[in-house]
Amino acid sequence: MRLRADDGALSILANKFDMKIHEYQGKDILRQFGVATPRGIACFSVDEAVAAAQQLGGSVWVVKAQIHAGGRGKGGGVKVAKSPDEVRQYAQQILGMHLVTHQTGLEGQLVRRLLIEEGAAIVKEFYVGMVVDRASQRVALLASSEGGMEIEEVAKHSPEKIHTVRIDPVAGLADSDAAQVARNIGIPDAANADAVKVLQGLYRAFVEKDAMLAEINPLVLTADNRVLALDAKFNFDSNALYRHPEIVALRDLDEEDPAEIEASKFDLSYISLDGDIGCLVNGAGLAMATMDIIKLYGGNPANFLDVGGGATKEKVTEAFKLMLKNPHLKAILVNIFGGIMKCDVIAEGVVAAAREVSLNVPLVVRLEGTNVDLGKKILAESGLPIISGNDMADAAQKVVAAAKG
Ligand code: GDP
Ligand code: MN
Repeated sequence: MRLRADDGALSILANKFDMKIHEYQGKDILRQFGVATPRGIACFSVDEAVAAAQQLGGSVWVVKAQIHAGGRGKGGGVKVAKSPDEVRQYAQQILGMHLVTHQTGLEGQLVRRLLIEEGAAIVKEFYVGMVVDRASQRVALLASSEGGMEIEEVAKHSPEKIHTVRIDPVAGLADSDAAQVARNIGIPDAANADAVKVLQGLYRAFVEKDAMLAEINPLVLTADNRVLALDAKFNFDSNALYRHPEIVALRDLDEEDPAEIEASKFDLSYISLDGDIGCLVNGAGLAMATMDIIKLYGGNPANFLDVGGGATKEKVTEAFKLMLKNPHLKAILVNIFGGIMKCDVIAEGVVAAAREVSLNVPLVVRLEGTNVDLGKKILAESGLPIISGNDMADAAQKVVAAAKG
């Protein structure tokens, strides 16, 4: 999934370090914590989908694309089927499609997996979600009567419809708080106990699995007053994955950016973004600052890239190759602070890499630190059309201008 460059650098990075899973995997987790979901079977082929519908029984099924992005319903990735033939038809249609949603980018995400579920008789849809709220240092429960739509939209247009509880980490989510939230969002009394079970189960899942974000959107009330999770989204804290091999096992590399997987082979921290200015920087903090200053001057970063403290010529070359694979790339900014790493070594690496990859976009380089004069001399004498930036602001302005011109 491609992140948007209009997010701040820190939020992009925080999101990057979360591990994502599919809806059907999230529902498995929810069930382990007592949250009711429709019965469903994950499938990888059309025949499996039809067999799954037969195994589930009943007369209405939902065929759901499994990708690591939301907004599948609107994009045509969720269909209600009224017969096994329709299940076949929709499975054929959805498997292999490039599903485009507001979270995928224009090229969409190839659908390789489906979830076939028994249909639910929905009376009303709600939203419930949990996030780590850094300000209060607690897990915040967010709940709303406006289910099925994006919570960001609700937050923007009718914030009063979002009810928040910041959960005491020692006491956990109290029965009374959960019951009150359920009433606040309009769950009828007959289903209140069920809703409390969902909220408390979600909270236990969140804490025990070290989630950073968990969302049930929609949570639905059925005609027979049951409360079911119709969707499930979990992001997990990567720093806690060492104690969750069962979560790591759910990883789906097909959903991850090939450029990012390639980068990790060379020990480069790389994140694809949707802008057009490639960034090659040493140090994560400087890389974030570089992204932010590019945006300050009206540009958009094409990637986050930290080549690390010990960047060799080979690593710099790989980094250039990665950036140049991006068809949207219009210019590159190299921003290096030579501390342990000397500027002349970096300059030699940049020159060698630029020659090897036959650079076809403007390159702006800003060097500072140890042996900076020698580094600048190497760049100037290379014969390559390198634009030199005097400081970060100057370099950012020059690269933004280069990308526009
Ligand atoms: P998302 O669009 O990626 O968030 O996917 P969801 O799983 O939330 O599905 C989108 C919408 O499809 C939901 O908001 C529901 O309105 C609808 N939907 C999902 N499952 C069912 C179902 O079992 N029955 C019916 N009638 N609608 C469903
Ligand atoms: Mn949803």
